[in-house]
Order: sequence, then structure tokens, then C-alpha cells
Amino acid sequence: MKLIFEKGAAGRGCSILPECDVPAVDAGSFARKTPARLPQVSETEISRHYTALAKQTHGVNDGFYPLGSCTMKYNPKINEAMAALPGFTGVHPLQEPETVQGSMEVLGKAEQYLCEITGMDRMTFQPAAGAHGEFTGLLLIKGYHTARGDQARTKILVPDSAHGTNPASAAMAGFEVVNIPSGADGCVDLDALRAAAGPDTAGLMLTNPNTVGLFDKNILEITRIVHEAGGLCYYDGANLNAVMGVVRPGDMGFDVVHLNLHKTFSTPHGGGGPGSGPVGCKSLLAPFLPGKMPVQGPDGWQWETPAQSVGDVKAFYGNFLVVVKAFTYILSLGRMGIPAAAKNAVLNANYLMYRLKDHYTMAYNHRCMHEFVMSLEDVKHETGVSALDVAKALLDHGIHPPTMYFPLIVHEALMVEPTETETKETLDEAADVLIEILEEARRAPQSMHQLPLTTPVGRLDEVTAARKPVVRYDFSAGQAG
Ligand SMILES: *Cc1c(COP(=O)(O)O)cnc(C)c1O
Repeated sequence: MKLIFEKGAAGRGCSILPECDVPAVDAGSFARKTPARLPQVSETEISRHYTALAKQTHGVNDGFYPLGSCTMKYNPKINEAMAALPGFTGVHPLQEPETVQGSMEVLGKAEQYLCEITGMDRMTFQPAAGAHGEFTGLLLIKGYHTARGDQARTKILVPDSAHGTNPASAAMAGFEVVNIPSGADGCVDLDALRAAAGPDTAGLMLTNPNTVGLFDKNILEITRIVHEAGGLCYYDGANLNAVMGVVRPGDMGFDVVHLNLHKTFSTPHGGGGPGSGPVGCKSLLAPFLPGKMPVQGPDGWQWETPAQSVGDVKAFYGNFLVVVKAFTYILSLGRMGIPAAAKNAVLNANYLMYRLKDHYTMAYNHRCMHEFVMSLEDVKHETGVSALDVAKALLDHGIHPPTMYFPLIVHEALMVEPTETETKETLDEAADVLIEILEEARRAPQSMHQLPLTTPVGRLDEVTAARKPVVRYDFSAGQAG
């Protein structure tokens, strides 16, 4: 497909901007010397270009997207309608509080509701993504220990069933990462945890339900061990989808939590727009929160900077319009709808797992939460067909593959998360397709290595794409380069 720079002709264009109604300003030395080399295309060409691009991808609006750990649930259109209201899109972050009371109320109420859902006392919306939230939460833990004059706590305990971003964020925040193994049941090994927790423990980072889709049954014991050692407990709540409105991290003993609004709270992700990874904390960590916090006083909403703030982690109030979308979702579902969504997410995952478990090997053979992990190790051994081959085969059936080769503790893993927004028919179709693919793997394993056949591109050179991405257009050569 041609790039937009390769389309159009000199002088062609479309006037989508209104006539300038303010005096032009001479930008002086800041002005560019040569005109920008923008594509000169008609509105028809632009429209066709982006429609063609949109058809080459696969989103939740195209079909089933069971990408484990990513919660690709349907994004209700009403969220977009609310976020597009001019009262939200037209505000400036430096406006006087009395002129933006409505937007401040959205932040204040969203904080209040999400604190209610997580069992936390305060929450910041500054972090722009889950991993950014983890980093922020760890800064809070660091700020807390530092303020107490306890410099010895340099280690963060991270179970091996944690999301990959957890150890990365701990290292980014300047901590040493101590890996805690899982037992055969997929839960944290308590003896290993007891042995590792001590006076150098700053805290623990736990993903629960963990990356194999299991709710750790020893959760209260885990947080007790860490607290007794003087550490704090961080809850990776990116995937709160299995438990929201049912149980609360705060009640499990956690001091700080991040959420991914762009997963659990139905705001778009995966190329669909910016994210939001708010961080909630118990009141002992609130003085360290970044940015400005909305507080409601007798004269309305005001901004307040926390006393011992760790400093800004992003400009102003984070990705505000994402919060508007998530807030809309919370209000649409309400007190009954939120736990119902969580329970249906768990039901859908278990339904699909049970439809598949006589055909595929499940990594853990008990009831799952919002997702489950299959291991294709035996299939690969028997037929040479790998998890990757099965994932590619799904593409020819219009299904986005599950997450592959993650979590690392399961070999040939496929991690499936259907979400609550899929119907039983979709789940049945997906199960039929997966069973059919397995039969095909046994019948004609060689042909499986060539799939997919129906997508715009086949198998990609993922290493070169990651190591040497071509992201700029070279005008002199007239090509991407
Ligand atoms: C997705 C995810 C993250 C990271 O979130 P990003 O927004 O991609 O940075 C962290 N933890 C878990 C458990 C996740 O599923």
C-alpha cells in the first residue's frame, strides 16, 4: 500500500481549517525556513487512505480479541460521546479553578469511586500508563521509607508470576529486584517469601489475579509477611477485571495500587489513543502523591499539592479525557453493573477453558479468573506445530491471537482472555476454530508453518521490525528509509 506522501499532486488539497480570525504573528527566528512537506491530497484521497489503513488492522470492533492480560473489552461509544463534549475538550489546564469546576468534579468523583472500588484513600491520575503507574507507586514507597529515615530498604520482592513490567519498574525506580518463585499451584511460594522478606525489603509487587489467571489463595498471609518485615505492599491492578466490585486490594492488605483505565475501565488502547494508569494509595502514602489533587471545600473544588510530593510524573492532571471516558463507564455500569461485569469476565474465561480443556493442555487445571493459560508444549512435541503457528492460524479465521509465550513460567504458552463483552456464540465459534486448528495440526503440520494466508502481510521478521524499525520517510530517496 502506498504511503500518504506518495499520493496526491502539487496544489491539491482540502480546506478543513477555518479562516484565521486573529492577527498573524511573526514567529521570527522560530519560523521554518522552508514550507512543511505536507502531503497534498484531496479529502477523498485522505478518507480512502485512512479507511484502507483501518481495514488492514484488527480491533475489538472487527472481531474477537482474546489477548490475555490486555483486557480488550468493547469500548462503549457513549464514553467517546462524553469525552467529546466541548466543556471537556475546550478547557485549559492553567485555567482558574472557578472556571473549570465541572472538570475538577469529574477528577474528584472518579478518584472517589475508584478509591471505593480499590479500598484506597487517595488516587492520582497523572500516570499515563500501567507501567508509569507502577513507577509512580514505587516512588511513593521510596518517599515513605526515606521520610522515615530508613535508608536500608533497597529491595522490592517480585513473584515470578508478576507482569514483566513489575521488575522493570522496580529497577527504574532504583530498587534491587528479588525474584520470588511460584509453587506448582501457580501461587507465591510462602517459604521463599518468608526467607526473602527482611529489614532491606522496601516492598512487594504483586499481580493478583496473577499472570497465569489465578487468584492467590494466600493473599492475606503474603501481605502480612511483608508488613511484618516492615515493607509495603504494591498491587498491580492493571487487570482488575476479574475482581472489581467483588474484592478490594485495600482489604487484602495492600498499601498502593495502580489501575489501567485502558483495560478494566473500557478506554481504548493498542493504537486507540493514550492510556491512563492512576495510582491509589492508603493515607500513609498520600502525602507523597505527585501533581495537584482536587479537594472539595466550602468554595468548591480547589487544587492542593501533597505536602511531601515526589514531584510531577506527567504534565498537569494526566490524560484527562481518558478519565472522562472511564468515569462514564463507571456511571453507566453503576454499583450493580461493576461486579456483574467482573463475574461475567470470569464466567466467560471459564466457559471457554472448559470447552477447550479436553483438547488443549491447560497450564493449571483448576478454575481460572478472567483469563487462562494453555501450554502447547505437548502439541509441539507431537506435531512440530508451535504456539506461534496456532496463533497465526487464528488470524485466517478473523480472530486475534491470544498473548503468546507469556507468562514465561509456562512453555509454549497461549494466554486467553475473552472478557465479559463477548457473547456465548462468539466463545463457541472461537472454541470450534481452536479445536479445528488442532485437528489440522495433526493432519497437516507442515502447512501450518506458512500461515496466515489471508492477512495483508504474512509472517513478519519481528526481530528486524523491533531492532531496525523504519519510521521516517526519506524525501530525497522518495521512500521510507
Ligand atoms: C498491561 C499490564 C501492565 C502494563 O500496562 P501498560 O499500560 O501497558 O504500561 C502492567 N501490569 C499488568 C498485570 C498488565 O496486564
